[in-house]
Amino acid sequence: EAKERGEGGFERYRPGMEARGAERNRRAAALRTGILEDQMVVFFQPVVTLPDGRITGAEALVRWQHPVDGLVGPGAFIETAEQSGLIVPLGAWVLNAATREAASWPASLTVSVNVSARQLREAGFPDVVAAALRDSGLPAHRLTVEITESVAVGGGATAENLQGLRDLGVRLSLDDFGTGASTLSLLATCPVHQIKLDRSFVPDSGGSDAIADAVAQMARAFAVQAVAEGVETAEQAGRMAALGYDRAQGFYFARPMCAADMHTAVQAPAAL
Ligand code: C2E
Ligand code: MG
Ligand code: MG
Ligand code: MG
Repeated sequence: EAKERGEGGFERYRPGMEARGAERNRRAAALRTGILEDQMVVFFQPVVTLPDGRITGAEALVRWQHPVDGLVGPGAFIETAEQSGLIVPLGAWVLNAATREAASWPASLTVSVNVSARQLREAGFPDVVAAALRDSGLPAHRLTVEITESVAVGGGATAENLQGLRDLGVRLSLDDFGTGASTLSLLATCPVHQIKLDRSFVPDSGGSDAIADAVAQMARAFAVQAVAEGVETAEQAGRMAALGYDRAQGFYFARPMCAADMHTAVQAPAAL
């Protein structure tokens, strides 16, 4: 997207541009309808301790229960939501739904919510979070806000919003760690409580541990919690535990599940 833009952010004219613009508008209109008609749902994927696999909470992951297409993952609509600005109301809705659900779990469990750079730019974003906490009754320390390195170029109210979230007592996590160009400098300038190693760096059988190892060492140096994402096998779980990862998330432990299934899983955590 960024590389399609010339200097000053204007898109240079190219043949086919009107068609793409029309497609973009069509997607945004469809998403707006889906939001207004209550078709969005929040799934939860458990986060567990390493090495013992006890559930400590979950990440909230939005889905679209489309009347024709069925359950649609965020990969198909988050970009449209960001470009159109619909991520602002959608993100607020996810925060409310996720905190409300988490408030019904045992009090030791936490919930993580993804927040895009676009939401963090908006003045007053901490008020949206504060309202979700107040309405749900969830204590601030049980909410983690996941951000990516794209917030580094966030502008607007990003810096004061990050401070506002810290002041609320919400925890911050750097998601997809290692994939961005500025994650290292961001870690130095934006204190977070947790980093999540991107799943592309969780080594396959026989693959190199070098990056996963380096990130674990960095997490210790900065005294932040290290989470391994996308753990799919027992071998990977063992290797990440050996490297010193505190937490893991992935299909090996549990797939994202609907709120009702999550509710059951946290009542009987041994069933995981
Ligand atoms: P993410 O925050 O990095 O979330 C982790 C993604 O990895 C999820 O995909 C999850 O289902 C998937 N995953 C978890 N374990 C495994 C595994 O073992 N193997 C594999 N192959 N994948 C695994 P999902 O739900 O499709 O979400 C994709 C991305 O969409 C998220 O990546 C996040 O960036 C974004 N997203 C999801 N929900 C929201 C939301 O409410 N707001 C915003 N702004 N973004 C969201
Ligand atoms: Mg995430
Ligand atoms: Mg991630
Ligand atoms: Mg991701």
